[in-house]
Amino acid sequence: MLVLVINSGSSSLKYQVRDTAAGSRLANGLVERIGDASGGHPADHGEAIEQVLAELEGALGGRSIDAVGHRVVHGGERFGAPVLIDNEIVRAIERLAPLAPLHNPANALGIRAVTAKWPRIPQVAVFDTAFHRTMPEHAWRYAIPDALYTEHGVRRYGFHGTSHDYVTGLAAELLGIERSRFNAVVAHLGNGASVTAVRGGASVDTSMGYTPLEGLVMGTRSGDLDPSIVTQLIVRGEYTAGDLDRILNQDSGLKGLSGNNDMRSVVEAAAEGDDGAELALAVAAYRLQKYIGGYHVAVGGAHALVFTAGIGENSWPFRERVVEGLGALGVELDRYANVRRSGAPRVISTPESAIPVLVVPTDEEAQIAAATAALCGG
Ligand code: AMP
Repeated sequence: MLVLVINSGSSSLKYQVRDTAAGSRLANGLVERIGDASGGHPADHGEAIEQVLAELEGALGGRSIDAVGHRVVHGGERFGAPVLIDNEIVRAIERLAPLAPLHNPANALGIRAVTAKWPRIPQVAVFDTAFHRTMPEHAWRYAIPDALYTEHGVRRYGFHGTSHDYVTGLAAELLGIERSRFNAVVAHLGNGASVTAVRGGASVDTSMGYTPLEGLVMGTRSGDLDPSIVTQLIVRGEYTAGDLDRILNQDSGLKGLSGNNDMRSVVEAAAEGDDGAELALAVAAYRLQKYIGGYHVAVGGAHALVFTAGIGENSWPFRERVVEGLGALGVELDRYANVRRSGAPRVISTPESAIPVLVVPTDEEAQIAAATAALCGG
């Protein structure tokens, strides 16, 4: 099956074409500045889709697209698995906009643009939140008045689910453990970062919450903090809610502590003796260590600790820093295996390590394509 995978944002649209039988990628690209009237950019998502089709011409060797898979950020409480899209599903995605105001409306625009162009092609929505629908209530509830949940939907949803799901499957396979019996702590460390407790192959807790702000120290996001910081600063009248939203999402994390949001630069600066960069690494690693310890308990003993995404796959110094602090769990890194570059799923701990430490490259598009093919009979 040829699946066009679309990740549509408010002003950009990323795409890939995957052959799900061959497991290969035939094309990929990015349409930017949608709605920017200057300089011949697409006026709307419909024109962006036209541009994608023009770019695909000649790239598919005469074959045509069989189905379209869309990344959708928020599936709320309703969607716990990928779904075949119809009108009602698009409206449901739009109704979830209050929970993901920057993403869901844009995701729906991408779906509507494809429908307008190809009314008969099957389309599937794959949700970032869906993998976490298996969390038990004690993990997804915040200890706040019930009405905030029942009337406003304030609860933990979790994100990066497509990646956590994909990586969990590959890690279980690599270790030869049946997925339904596989327990793990999976750390997706990219510019956004989250860690998930996996029990029996399913998510039982995750560090991102009502929004992707909670949890780990990220490129520009603070992760966990005392909510009174926000209320007190507003009450004092020095900051507005909008200021703090921007500060916590865009100016915090590695960037807040070191001035730089890119892990490569932070590691380099720390090696050159920059105190802010060293502190940023220390805070980020310590936060992750606390989650790993907690989630090891939450899953009833993990069979593996798994690293993925930009930092998890590539930054051996950060992995080393994190695992060095896990001595109490009996985890031991193989220093040589840790620094070796590879694009393959691999073990980076010693045979003596109490549990194996893995690096498993993520591939959200492959997961979306596979889910789309599965629902469309491919
Ligand atoms: P992602 O959001 O998954 O693309 O990850 C982005 C993060 O991965 C950034 O902080 C990058 O600095 C980091 N990253 C990407 N490539 C490398 C690399 N080769 N070494 C260290 N960090 C990397």
